[in-house]
Amino acid sequence: MNILVSACLLGVDCRYCGDSCRNEGILNLKDKHNLIPVCPEQLGGLPTPRVPSERKGELVVGKDGTDVTEEFQKGAEQALYLCQLYECETAILKKNSPSCGFGIIYDGTFTGNKVSGDGVAAELLSQHGVLVLNEDNYAEGL
Ligand code: SF4
Repeated sequence: MNILVSACLLGVDCRYCGDSCRNEGILNLKDKHNLIPVCPEQLGGLPTPRVPSERKGELVVGKDGTDVTEEFQKGAEQALYLCQLYECETAILKKNSPSCGFGIIYDGTFTGNKVSGDGVAAELLSQHGVLVLNEDNYAEGL
């Protein structure tokens, strides 16, 4: 089946700091599935590297105070577009991210604290019926 995957988990250097978080187990899924890489923050027009951002209520704010909510929303819509184009019913997304995290995200204080909540893209995908997994629980979910 086609599975939407956070591009950073597939080894793409698209994280805010310019590196990836390549996950060999997820990469190995390519032997059985078609993996569709997406990076919502890049799809929203943000550069790499970029200032890290976190959700603060309904907003997404950079560590420098810049409001990047619009870019995050655009990226989420682009991720949903690709998800629907490829008819993905499942997504494996990077945990804790303000875009890709699902269930737990950073709390908006840039201190490493986490709270219950979803990243902007993960939230939108879930609202459209996509099963959102992460790098820790994908094996049980597939
Ligand atoms: Fe990875 Fe998602 Fe962040 Fe892009 S937006 S770097 S895919 S966690």
